[in-house]
Amino acid sequence: MSDALVDALRRALGERGVLTSPEDRARFETGWRYGKGTARCIARPASTDEVATVLRLCDTHGARVVAQGANTGLVAASTPDAGGAMVVLSLERLNRTIDLDAHGRTVLVDGGVLLSQLNGALAPHGFWFPVDLGADPQIGGMVATNTGGTRLLKYGDVRHNLLGVEVVLGDGRVLTLLNTLRKNNTGLDAKHLFVGTTGVFGVVTRAVLAVAPLPKQRATALVGCTGGSAVLELLRTLEQGLGDVLSAFEVMSRNAIEPVFAHQPNLRRPWPELPAYSVLVEAATTLDGEDLDLAALLEKFLGAHLERAGDQVSDVLMARGDEFWQIRHHISESLRSEGKMLAFDVSVPRSRLPAFTDAVALLLQAEHPQVRLCDYGHWGDGGTHLNLVWREAQVADSAALVRTLQSRIYDLAVRDFAGSYSAEHGIGPHNQAFYDRYTDANVKALCRVLGGFCDPAGRLGTVRLGGERS
Ligand SMILES: Cc1cc2nc3c(=O)[nH]c(=O)nc-3n(C[C@H](O)[C@H](O)[C@H](O)COP(=O)(O)OP(=O)(O)OC[C@H]3O[C@@H](n4cnc5c(N)ncnc54)[C@H](O)[C@@H]3O)c2cc1C
Repeated sequence: MSDALVDALRRALGERGVLTSPEDRARFETGWRYGKGTARCIARPASTDEVATVLRLCDTHGARVVAQGANTGLVAASTPDAGGAMVVLSLERLNRTIDLDAHGRTVLVDGGVLLSQLNGALAPHGFWFPVDLGADPQIGGMVATNTGGTRLLKYGDVRHNLLGVEVVLGDGRVLTLLNTLRKNNTGLDAKHLFVGTTGVFGVVTRAVLAVAPLPKQRATALVGCTGGSAVLELLRTLEQGLGDVLSAFEVMSRNAIEPVFAHQPNLRRPWPELPAYSVLVEAATTLDGEDLDLAALLEKFLGAHLERAGDQVSDVLMARGDEFWQIRHHISESLRSEGKMLAFDVSVPRSRLPAFTDAVALLLQAEHPQVRLCDYGHWGDGGTHLNLVWREAQVADSAALVRTLQSRIYDLAVRDFAGSYSAEHGIGPHNQAFYDRYTDANVKALCRVLGGFCDPAGRLGTVRLGGERS
């Protein structure tokens, strides 16, 4: 059946630029963890002008559009809805420019460039983009979700490392904000409108990023802690003593890593008896080994802490960094193999993480004893992934349990512990109801005004930052 919009897109982008068959569409229609829909077609523009053309044509034909990067998002925001009328605008062909200014320590990069591609191009020049995670997203997707990652403690999130953007607005207007200055206090810094707002205000086609010098050495340790307060004490001691080089502080509970050794036979247990928390500590420096022996420094520091901390710290293991990181990165998939898993990406003020985790454990014990709490995450930034696991056979109605748990635990995080229901994964259909519940009415009103300017007909995305779609 002929479709006037698809025909017009084909004329503008060529055959390679538009995919329509169910087989070709499939990988764009299913999200990494959540989200499954049906697209009218996949538009794959290869330049900013082509992105603008796609959005103009969709506007003229009254079609809604969802931008898609590498589709690694975890809140179902990158896939179309079930209606079959939305266009997926994939940025995967907009991936040619990586233009480094080595003296300025900035890079101009196309929105569809993958993080691995960018870092591959930067490495020979001694730089990297230090927002680091266990997936390989596109730069535009990282801007839209304000990606955090495992080294936020040292380098910050995307927002902290973003200098400028070029964006195509909902009706095809191009907004060029490709600032390369680190100091530029000249009124509203409009690029921030497009950071963490999930692509509903515009499609990011290019970005200017601040890049960091590539560390010349890293040292990693795994520290066994007997409880949450021992973890916080370790963090404080490390920040005060080794703050200049501390680059990651990843906390993994016994329940979170026990399944890793069951499902990943190539990974060995660090200790026969796992402590309550295993903490992955990483230090990094641009000094080379002749100037500073980082591993020796970390070992000496943690050895002294082990002696001081008494029975708060059970042991320290050094020098198996790759293995420790592999354990960390295999947690999520290993937990998934254990049964039904419900993931929470929450944060609370750092000092309250132990109390918050205890409160969740107590709640589960009292109300849902069949549910296992498997918590891990970036405690250095106050972030924790509370993954809840249960066997389907033990629960009469898993969908109802999901609804109850989400409501109870997000309320606990946001209302009782002054935290966030989405620490780093952003907003999507998966957590839209909680955005609606917790977001201030004035913020929603502001988003409606901004949306009216950036995307007047409300064509972009599946998320509603201003409340109901008008
Ligand atoms: C194994 C794994 C580990 C992860 N770890 C972390 C982590 O540690 N920290 C963290 O913060 N996240 C993490 N994530 C989440 C995810 O990787 C990030 O949200 C990611 O940055 C999304 O980028 P993407 O290119 O895949 O975007 P997509 O998933 O394709 O899209 C995400 C959102 O951005 C919008 N979007 C995409 N491209 C553009 C564009 N060019 N312009 C405008 N909007 C756009 C989409 O419409 C959607 O709303 C992880 C994911 C996985 C699978």
